[in-house]
Amino acid sequence: MKHYYILLLLFVIYSCGDIQSPKKTPNIKSNQVVNQKSTSLIVLGTIQDAGSPHIGCKEDCCKDLFSNPDKDRQVVSLGLVDNNYSKKYLFEATPDIARQMKALLRDDIQNNNELVDGIFLSHAHIGHYAGLMYLGKEATNAKNMNVFAMPRMKNYLETNGPWSQLVSDNNISLTQIEKEQPISLTPNAVVTPFLVPHRDEYSETVGYRIKGPNKTALFIPDIDKWNKWDKSIVAEIKKVDYAFLDATFYNEKEINNRDISQIPHPFIIESLETFKSLDYKDRKKVIFIHFNHTNPVIDLNNEEAKNVLNQGFNIGRINDIYDL
Ligand SMILES: [Zn+2]
Ligand SMILES: [Zn+2]
Ligand SMILES: [Zn+2]
Repeated sequence: MKHYYILLLLFVIYSCGDIQSPKKTPNIKSNQVVNQKSTSLIVLGTIQDAGSPHIGCKEDCCKDLFSNPDKDRQVVSLGLVDNNYSKKYLFEATPDIARQMKALLRDDIQNNNELVDGIFLSHAHIGHYAGLMYLGKEATNAKNMNVFAMPRMKNYLETNGPWSQLVSDNNISLTQIEKEQPISLTPNAVVTPFLVPHRDEYSETVGYRIKGPNKTALFIPDIDKWNKWDKSIVAEIKKVDYAFLDATFYNEKEINNRDISQIPHPFIIESLETFKSLDYKDRKKVIFIHFNHTNPVIDLNNEEAKNVLNQGFNIGRINDIYDL
């Protein structure tokens, strides 16, 4: 009988421990495998520039994360892998670049170098380029890391410290790219930048079209409202197979009920409205990314996440793999 009580007690303690553990994204560790013969994209991060936990945040979204970090919360980035030609690239140099480079060392990726073959930058906001600092002397002291940047972005890096030191020390080697001009990385991977509206203080902002042998993806981590763009996002989604899209905020509650029309990002509820003309096949292409720490869709158990998924759209998850 005594044993029974001890077992019961242990069971209660164990269950309570489970209930009290901090809420975590139910991101089932992706067991997906990178295509051995072809080109793939790997999601290496889904969070907005400032990360999660977010500096100074005292709200429920972050309060447990300072002592109990969730390693699945990395700043937004994609890995591009071409196993046929043994090449791998990063989209964005985020503050989490060390882990993101390491995430591209896996048994199913041919190229087993610690560093990638090149990095594509979208714009000069901290989450998208500040990780370049880890290529310098204080960190890995890289040799001529190929960094692809638009003209203003390139000029900004060349003419402002500490970035200019990466250039003069040949830690990075800048390749200027132009809007709508495709760059063939291998016969199986072609990348094309295109301009998007955003608050462009130091650089222009681009999204990328990433074309593999069979499929094409759209990557737009940051953009002002969809209707400020000279292209129709609905038409662009129809042309591709995957669309990784800015979903910084879900609705106005995250910004203390301020007028969402004044905040320069498409809110998820606005995107759902804009995309409602898409049929099920096209909705499946949409993968929301770039979540602010306050965004309730980060936790797939939340009603807001279910609303997105029930309408046929996807929520970006770290380590998910998309065949190109
Ligand atoms: Zn951003
Ligand atoms: Zn927070
Ligand atoms: Zn930005």
